[in-house]
Amino acid sequence: MNATGERSNLLGLTRPELEAFVAGLGAKPYRARQLLKWIYRRGESDFARMTDLAKDFRAQLAGVAEVRVPEIVTERRSADGTRKWLLRMPGAVAAEQAIETVFIPEPGRGTLCISSQIGCVLDCAFCATGQQGFNRNLTAAEIIGQVWLANRELGRDPDGERVITNVVLMGMGEPLANYRNVLPAMQLMLDDLGYDLSRRRVTLSTSGLVPQIYRLAEDANVALAVSLHAPNDALRDQLVPINRRHPIAELLAACWHYLERQNGRSVTFEYTMLDGVNDKPAHARELAGLLRGHDAKVNLIPFNTFPGTRFRRSPAEAIRRFRDLLVQGGVMATIRKTRGDDIEAACGQLRGQVLDRTQVRLGSKLVRLAVRA
Ligand code: SAH
Ligand code: SF4
Repeated sequence: MNATGERSNLLGLTRPELEAFVAGLGAKPYRARQLLKWIYRRGESDFARMTDLAKDFRAQLAGVAEVRVPEIVTERRSADGTRKWLLRMPGAVAAEQAIETVFIPEPGRGTLCISSQIGCVLDCAFCATGQQGFNRNLTAAEIIGQVWLANRELGRDPDGERVITNVVLMGMGEPLANYRNVLPAMQLMLDDLGYDLSRRRVTLSTSGLVPQIYRLAEDANVALAVSLHAPNDALRDQLVPINRRHPIAELLAACWHYLERQNGRSVTFEYTMLDGVNDKPAHARELAGLLRGHDAKVNLIPFNTFPGTRFRRSPAEAIRRFRDLLVQGGVMATIRKTRGDDIEAACGQLRGQVLDRTQVRLGSKLVRLAVRA
């Protein structure tokens, strides 16, 4: 039981946290390892079915703890095999909140795109999530719970292997603005008794929270993707407002530090192609000048539209030309295939249900806004 008299949720506890929890019940540390295997490897949430745990211990656990997973509200399936789940999140006030999780199957791999916050405060000009406003951070349980649920829904492939091979933190929210909960969730993805994913198969995408990139370089070992979207500060200030606080030179310095510290392979720079805004040949040349000589690759994302946006997708021809100019300029570049746009599951289309936008985070404080009648 925790301080509020609820059962403690074991989902989202890292290995050391779970060891401390079982020690508090008088059990040996290996019990924590058994629990990890049951919860993540086998996807079990019922202690009664964890058959290699002593019966008394199972009963003891059931009295004080549970494995509480998010609840599915709806599921949509795209013609291309992409699946999107809307998951209910308990609201701080009466209004229910919901977030979205997307599974994208490709030959030889399956990528799960998960959310880290209900909404986002950063308000990038071309992002549906940003326009939804912000409610709250997800807990570690709610973040790893998305992987847990998707694994349960997807089952195993015909060879008995898990279908999810990669996880990307590219859904709703800015993961580095919820560092405290994102870090343990990623540790569980990497833990060999958790999801046992290699560090190249877990990718965190950030719009550029520079201090947290330095922190991440010390704390975790995952692939880094950075939402650049513009080759100069004048344009990036307009598209990605956090740039006014952490301009491009500062951001790139943090990225190169990350690579050095992590011995990483490369940083991926995401660049959403907006017709007539950031897609001109001059932009491509300027971008190549910034990245040339570094372990960087650019992923060009065709803009995905949503109701109320003033942007349009660059024509396919402009996107290809942009890629070619980058490659000629000495920078690796690829064009991201748009997936799941018929179910609004493509990059930047995730909206969830941010019904209660009355809470905002100011620094480390959660503040309730006065709501006018
Ligand atoms: N907050 C994080 C991760 C979530 S967004 C970040 O910004 O990096 C995942 C990627 O989709 C980001 O690169 C984001 O800029 C991009 N994106 C947002 N809206 C988009 C849209 N409408 N079309 C295409 N890509 C979009
Ligand atoms: Fe937030 Fe990322 Fe959308 Fe920007 S692009 S508003 S950081 S979710």
